[in-house]
Amino acid sequence: MKRWSAVVAAVLLVAAVSLMISMGAAAQEVIRVGADTAFPPFEFVDEATGEYTGFDMDLIRAIGEQMGVKVEIVNTVFDSLIPALLLGEFDVIVSAMTITEERAQTVAFTDPYFRTGLVIATRPDNTSIKTTDDLKGKIVAVQMGSTGHFAADALPGVGRVDPYQFVDQAMTAVIIGAADAAILDELVAIEYMQAHPASIKVVGEPFTTEEYGMAVRPSDTELLQRINAALAELRANGTYDQLYEKWFGVD
Ligand code: GLN
Repeated sequence: MKRWSAVVAAVLLVAAVSLMISMGAAAQEVIRVGADTAFPPFEFVDEATGEYTGFDMDLIRAIGEQMGVKVEIVNTVFDSLIPALLLGEFDVIVSAMTITEERAQTVAFTDPYFRTGLVIATRPDNTSIKTTDDLKGKIVAVQMGSTGHFAADALPGVGRVDPYQFVDQAMTAVIIGAADAAILDELVAIEYMQAHPASIKVVGEPFTTEEYGMAVRPSDTELLQRINAALAELRANGTYDQLYEKWFGVD
């Protein structure tokens, strides 16, 4: 009799503990984050650990911590991010996405978190391309659906615009001579130039001013407000500056 009650007590204890554990897990809200994780230094895979890393990844994890939620990264091709968000495949886009009027018609952007611009990249031995005017008649490689793509399409006289799914494919096209130049985000271009100094150079200063924002579904007004509040707190408490310094600080 005693033995049985000890067994029953043990079983009940195990059941109670596992219930508490699962309730604890359920209580932790998860936000799923869509990102094109082939866009260094904003989002990329750390080869040593296999983890997603970069400025954006650190920032959204810090925002998640601030909000008390768990952050899960969902790797998605850049051009599919907005449709996938709208289909509910994740809850927020954090992917060095420029706030544009057109995109703002379908998604709701957070406050801007990064200011940058587009640049031209070409091979180091190319001395004829100095400004966007010099792209007349040239082949320009871009990432599909990016602001670089839209800018290249809008430049008068460009010979051909070749869109690639991933930004490194556009850079490879330049390196192997399949394209004369690429148009892309400044800090990503600089990252490539530093990684491949013999094959890529950044030409001049940015020719656009753009701001990155995170994007949620327009109906998710509460989530938007919570992310904005967390972002403001990280700016106020110095975390944002630390991350900026970590990824873009003077070297
Ligand atoms: N900032 C650019 C855009 O929003 C490119 C972003 C990206 O390729 N991740 O289109």
